[in-house]
Amino acid sequence: MWKIAMSEVGKSLQSVVQRVNQAASRRPKQTLPTVPPRLVAVSKTKPPEMVVEAYNQGQRNFGENYVNELVDKASDPMILESCPEIKWHFIGHLQKNNVNKLLVPNLFLVETVDSAKLADKVNSSWLRIRGASMQRLKVMVQINTSGEQKYGLPPEETVNTAKHIMSECCALQFAGLMTIGRYGYNLTLGPNPDFQEVCESLKLPLDEVELSMGMSTDFEHAIEVGSTNVRVGSIIFGNREYPNSAANTPIPSPAPSPAPSPEKTSKQVSEEAAKKMQHL
Ligand SMILES: *Cc1c(COP(=O)(O)O)cnc(C)c1O
Repeated sequence: MWKIAMSEVGKSLQSVVQRVNQAASRRPKQTLPTVPPRLVAVSKTKPPEMVVEAYNQGQRNFGENYVNELVDKASDPMILESCPEIKWHFIGHLQKNNVNKLLVPNLFLVETVDSAKLADKVNSSWLRIRGASMQRLKVMVQINTSGEQKYGLPPEETVNTAKHIMSECCALQFAGLMTIGRYGYNLTLGPNPDFQEVCESLKLPLDEVELSMGMSTDFEHAIEVGSTNVRVGSIIFGNREYPNSAANTPIPSPAPSPAPSPEKTSKQVSEEAAKKMQHL
């Protein structure tokens, strides 16, 4: 049955790539980094054949959010042989006891580090498994401000966790922030204040801190407001089928809340913006 869908992967991928580039060209150039956004094709629940199909169309970055599925696909003989330059992103919730398993061939970016302890564990595992001479592993800190979401750090802990990664985790490279969430922030108010605040506190240039934000329903908007890494699944590979598992159902998206008013303090603004970021 997915044979039909298979033949469409190339076309749908092409259209998404086009929409990514168009959205990037609509970014306000004076306020936002000019980093070209990276498209991560989220292949969860989809067969290795579809990954190979997208790879053959030029796609290199792929995302998975279950550790076991990432392990299966990243070590799949067909993928290993046909996709030598594949870059795997881990975008799901990570538990410390799964970290060793996670370090698969071609792992490129772990987007969901949500505590200093987890960072330490990823750091020590990477050192032990890959050795000190290997390239540092890129990680992002997952942010969740309002606490309505299940995973991710509140914004006030984001900076310290990023600092911890930079100063204590020699095998890791802090790459930026990741958020799951419909982005409700009002573009006319400029770039996300919370994101800017993190860059300022860390004294990092905005261009060097990535923001992973945006999925099938909102990736263009996310790019317009500064996302540098969009995670797009269903509009490339088709809807996911979750056989009889309520636990696997995608998280429903609450409506975005209204934009902050200008007279609010920057702390309030950043808290509210971050709150909006996490709606998904
Ligand atoms: C599944 C998933 C996506 C992709 O979702 P689509 O709506 O299919 O584009 C993006 N990010 C995360 C964290 C996911 O789990």
